[in-house]
Amino acid sequence: MWFRQLVDNQTQALTYLLGDNSSGEVVVLDPQPRDWPLLQALVDDFGGRLKAILLTHNHKPERLQQLLALEYPLFCAGQWHHAPSSGPGWHASHLPLGQAALRMLPTPGHTLDCTSFLWEDRLFCGDLLDTSLCTEQPHPQDCARLWESLQQQVLTLPGDTLLYPAHTLHGRMVLNLHDYPRLAAGSERLRSRDVFMAALDNH
Ligand SMILES: [Zn+2]
Repeated sequence: MWFRQLVDNQTQALTYLLGDNSSGEVVVLDPQPRDWPLLQALVDDFGGRLKAILLTHNHKPERLQQLLALEYPLFCAGQWHHAPSSGPGWHASHLPLGQAALRMLPTPGHTLDCTSFLWEDRLFCGDLLDTSLCTEQPHPQDCARLWESLQQQVLTLPGDTLLYPAHTLHGRMVLNLHDYPRLAAGSERLRSRDVFMAALDNH
């Protein structure tokens, strides 16, 4: 397993490179187009080849267009773009990466079509954990679905699952489920749906 995490010092946005040592397959998760030369250099340094671009979500149409122009298979909002129409490995629910696989989990709430990606014991979950950290969409698009996504797709995972957000979370670039209720803005929010909804409505 090869793993790199990059942080944008201005926006605190996080980008991830995940690679398989034996096959050399690499995916890049939540990249910024301006970082492409650096990302490509890191993949070359690893000796791998880029298999796909994955987005947990996207706020800017021009960013999506710039990434699509690179003509790699790209997954965003529950669907593939530029993926081969035949052959194994291009599903809307999982993507093989060497001997392992990433699972795509629909986790709407921050935006209506957010996706989280589960890779072994790591969950890449966009701005699901604390939507206030995303300057593009600080209030969830759908608070009720955000609650359901957290309850059904995140809090049911093993407690030592590593959670990787799309923006640094109060200075943290990774946390786990034991940390999450303590670090999320207002840990009491997670106690009940009513408290959670009321806290977001009053935000
Ligand atoms: Zn966001």
